Amino acid sequence: MFKPVTPKVDFVEIEKKILEWWEKSGILKKYLQKNKNSKTRFSFLDGPITANNPMGVHHAWGRTYKDLWQRFFNMKGCQQRFQNGFDNQGLWVEVEVEKELDFKDKKDIEKYGIEKFVNKCKERTLKFAKVQTEQSKRLGYFMDWRNSYYTMSDENNYMIWSFLKKCHENKWLYKGKDSVPWCPRCGTAISQHEILTEEYQELTHDSVYFKLPVKDKENTFFLVWTTTPWTIPANVALAVNPDFKYGVYQKGKEILILLKDLKEKILGKDWQEMRTFKGQDLKNWQYQGPFDDLPRLKGIIHKVVLDKDLVTAEEGTGIVHIAPGAGQEDFRLAKKENLDMIEAIDEEANYLDGFGQFSSQNAKKHPELIINYLREKDNGSFLFKIEKYKHRYPVCWRCKTELVWRLVEEWYIAMDELRPKMMAVTKKINWLPSWGKERELDWLKNMEDWLISKKRYWGLALPIWECACGHFEVIGSYQELKEKAVEGWNKFEKHSPHRPWIDEVKIKCPKCGQLASRIKDVGNPWLDAGIVSFSTLKYQTDKKYWTEWFPADFITESLPGQFKNWFYSLIAMATVLEGTNPFRTVLGHGMVLGEDGQAMHKSMGNAIEFNEGAEKMGVDVMRWLFISHNPADNLLFGYKTADEVRRRFHLLLWNIYNFFINNALINQWQPKENKKNSQNILDRWLFSRLHTLIKQTTDSLENFDAFSATIKIEKFVNDFSTWYVRRSRDRISLSAENQKDKEDCFTTFYSVLVILTKLLAPFIPFLSEEIFRNLTNEESVHLEEWPEFNEKLIERELEKEMEEVRKICEMAHALRKEAKIKVRQPLKELTITGTRTKISEDSKKLVKDELNVKKVVVKEGKGELKASLDTKISPELKAEGEARELVRQIQDLRKKAGCRLDEKIKVVGPNWPEDKKLQEDIRKGTLSTDLLPGEKLEIIK
Ligand SMILES: [Zn+2]
Ligand SMILES: [Zn+2]
Repeated sequence: MFKPVTPKVDFVEIEKKILEWWEKSGILKKYLQKNKNSKTRFSFLDGPITANNPMGVHHAWGRTYKDLWQRFFNMKGCQQRFQNGFDNQGLWVEVEVEKELDFKDKKDIEKYGIEKFVNKCKERTLKFAKVQTEQSKRLGYFMDWRNSYYTMSDENNYMIWSFLKKCHENKWLYKGKDSVPWCPRCGTAISQHEILTEEYQELTHDSVYFKLPVKDKENTFFLVWTTTPWTIPANVALAVNPDFKYGVYQKGKEILILLKDLKEKILGKDWQEMRTFKGQDLKNWQYQGPFDDLPRLKGIIHKVVLDKDLVTAEEGTGIVHIAPGAGQEDFRLAKKENLDMIEAIDEEANYLDGFGQFSSQNAKKHPELIINYLREKDNGSFLFKIEKYKHRYPVCWRCKTELVWRLVEEWYIAMDELRPKMMAVTKKINWLPSWGKERELDWLKNMEDWLISKKRYWGLALPIWECACGHFEVIGSYQELKEKAVEGWNKFEKHSPHRPWIDEVKIKCPKCGQLASRIKDVGNPWLDAGIVSFSTLKYQTDKKYWTEWFPADFITESLPGQFKNWFYSLIAMATVLEGTNPFRTVLGHGMVLGEDGQAMHKSMGNAIEFNEGAEKMGVDVMRWLFISHNPADNLLFGYKTADEVRRRFHLLLWNIYNFFINNALINQWQPKENKKNSQNILDRWLFSRLHTLIKQTTDSLENFDAFSATIKIEKFVNDFSTWYVRRSRDRISLSAENQKDKEDCFTTFYSVLVILTKLLAPFIPFLSEEIFRNLTNEESVHLEEWPEFNEKLIERELEKEMEEVRKICEMAHALRKEAKIKVRQPLKELTITGTRTKISEDSKKLVKDELNVKKVVVKEGKGELKASLDTKISPELKAEGEARELVRQIQDLRKKAGCRLDEKIKVVGPNWPEDKKLQEDIRKGTLSTDLLPGEKLEIIK
């Protein structure tokens, strides 16, 4: 027997009960092993989640997709690996541990001890890996949790070593000096990949218009503008556009040179134009700087250079301040023009030695040092004016400190030779949405050499041993290091390849014989995640296994988050190691925003934590919210949307199920072994719709398009509820007389529900399990096979006809409403013209029942589909309508009195119809044995 269900459903409670039961009954284990001997495979590669904090709802989106497709292919019988990944290494963990320990900067770490610090980082990431595992289970995510991979593992790190060695063999690995974005708090370079659009903030800074005296021309100055006054001491040149028109302007004794187009805006009308000339005429003009007295600037010659790209006519003065040590563009121009390069600041953005009074003062924190100096120097003759300036300025992606540009030596992978190869690989991949490919290609086209080093502590130890003579060796494996080690091996041997232990190992320089040490740098964290299509697939230890699972069939992550990061690094590493694509299909999804359309922030009050969301909305609702959203668009996540989803889909489904179970229990109906397919038009229609749905859902999921599948599923559930259930109420009610039809209806209803729960299992694993188990008494829907689609059961003509029938009913209901006649009042006739399909007798019967009309006349013909209703009510029709109204009132009384659905009653009432047939109808419709006279309508139990 089915266990009774309640219409007042608590989805969260059901989920918790099922979680507990899954745990107890070992369903997960059976699920993981279901296809272990299967010949077909589905290779899913998990993008490692940063194990640094509890997981957020944005992680839940991607994880829902991951679970959905693994479940789908498991039901389809594919062998899978079910391996989840954790990302453990990198600055993100360090910053959190620094916060925990209340550290200000790198000096605090050194004082605390690198070993202790690195151990703390390991601890933190393992702790959050556990937290995230529990949260993922709550989401209903079925994975082989005990077999999760960790990017900090030895195999992952050594696999990256071998990748870097290969880069080195191709001569792509080099140490280069560049002016790079730098976080003064973290004390490290920030690679181009890490400056995402979100990493800019609207900030207001003091911008400075300053004057630089032209050499050998009295009282004549270049007027220059900068938004970063702290860089002025590092100025070596000015750039002008050779094609622009510049002017010389005089007021009193003073003469200024600037772009003619900007003169009005900056100087107003008081200044007299003396003459104009092209920018190219200014080439090599020399000038003096305000800081030329400082020791570091001794002997520097400042001059004007030409550049068309850097100089625009939109803002500034048309004369651009060039400080090659403190700007990327500046650096490039300086290399081209062979200019001096002045390094101005250290790791923490303090001025270096040689800057006089400024040395060891912080450049970024105290811009007023420079501004005040300009104000006072030579009676302020260098300063023109100061203006507040609002702009988008990059900040550190981890600690939100404003970035500076610094001239430093870092390690790079050269892109020029790799770029076209990576682009070719990118084109082999199936990108969803398709514009993801263009985005990736565009990134590859524009990205510079890959900066892979960081002057930090917790991360991949870059396997580069450098000698004082300038030679460096790249070590490709543990074994190779062991063979080359001449010192410190015993101190390292038993540890993971991390700082500080790895730094103990010295090798002998093959060029000069001196001891060479490892460079102190750790690696870019995207190396850690990018190698997993090799490390986790046993590339070095079990090639057969690797060949079986590589390339992955499918990966999915957030597109804006990963096209520069994980997708990029996966492609880079597979291109270098094997010259091919590491995955076949990638589904990129958008970002999760708050319901107000803003990025989620605790301070904005629009953030929802995963645990809270799971508790309040339930994860099946959360999952459907994600899956039924177009992945190409950003998603607005919140309780209002969740409630909409719940009403629109989950409750509708629950009500169908509830209706079925209640009626089955009252009728004591049980599923039979040998069921024949029903010939009833509604049953045939529902089966046809179901098999159409199986086909559509299967196709969509095979094409990694869950969004389309959810649209079709919702439509089906809607049709099921608003048409099949609605039109079948009388067929399975206790008073229904046609026993064969009742059996047909129950059988159809039952089979469709069972198959539907299987279809829904990958989408909403909890609700589908709850319904499936009660219906079938089987162990778990997640151990079932994916429903097979049966072409023979699809009746396209019937589906079309039914669509037309429903349209007709809609029109006729509208006519009744217009005429203000309730559906309970029978009417004589409905006439339909202009039907597109043939309306069968069975369909006419449906229309008659649905609309409560005595006769349906169909006149075929051209033109628009039309319905007209005969609204004249004869005395007989009126009596029948009143009898129906009585039935409704008595049913209400039954409900109020708490009658069981099969409980017989007696009724007392003032106006019973005279017609015996109508009396009989009332008795049947209300399970009444007697209709007794009385003053007021009452029931007797
Ligand atoms: Zn930082
Ligand atoms: Zn050497």
